[in-house]
Amino acid sequence: MGQHKRRYIEAEDARRRATQLGEILQAGVDVFCWCNRCGHNATISSARLAAELGPAFAVPEIGSRMRCSGCGSKDVAARPDWPSLGQIARHG
Ligand SMILES: [Zn+2]
Repeated sequence: MGQHKRRYIEAEDARRRATQLGEILQAGVDVFCWCNRCGHNATISSARLAAELGPAFAVPEIGSRMRCSGCGSKDVAARPDWPSLGQIARHG
């Protein structure tokens, strides 16, 4: 019984960890992608991605669908481009 409950919580947790396209679309946040090989990066419209992949698509999964336009590598990572990140740290 305790085991079942714990498994349920873990599943919930895993689902919560991956931000979905629909969530950042609502928040007006785009997707920031970067290449692990050459460092090329780009911000991609979450509206465009949600139209292509669906609003339930997990943001970190987007990287696996991308190919770097700089070097052609498929080793691409993605995360929500939250405006609060970086702006404050970069101030001054
Ligand atoms: Zn690259």
